[in-house]
Amino acid sequence: MAKKVEQDSVALVNYTGTFVDGEVFDSSEGKGPLAFLVGHGQMIQGFEQEMLGATIGEKREFTLTPDRAYGERDEDAVQKIDHNQFPEEMQLEVGMIVGAQSDQGPIQFSIKEIDGDMVTVDFNHQMAGMTLKFRVEVIDIRPASAEEILHGHAHGPGGVQH
Ligand code: ZN
Repeated sequence: MAKKVEQDSVALVNYTGTFVDGEVFDSSEGKGPLAFLVGHGQMIQGFEQEMLGATIGEKREFTLTPDRAYGERDEDAVQKIDHNQFPEEMQLEVGMIVGAQSDQGPIQFSIKEIDGDMVTVDFNHQMAGMTLKFRVEVIDIRPASAEEILHGHAHGPGGVQH
């Protein structure tokens, strides 16, 4: 049976991701192929679904609407926070991405606006509300190791190096 992209396999792919206007937001070009573990949440779900069943050498092109990519934007996730809630030494700038700890674990938000003591922050994912297009070529497929499944990501070239 030909190897294919399936649950618990690791796929090595070349890919280019663009917005609908054609602007490239991410690509393996210049970085080398990406290795990802299938079926464990390493990639966005829509990406995995579109790649299932692909064989080595196969090329696929697909478009993911926000519901299958990073979700719709939630305007309630845009909030105003008092400047003194931030560490004093932190130099806040519009556009900056800030990582913080919450009761639910690590979170990320971006600074949208600074108006005196009020800072407007956006907890939406940077790519929320966006339709994304991908061109993907499968270079190799192999079964995942038990350790990769335990970690939830691919190891080795193109994967997580540790
Ligand atoms: Zn690992």
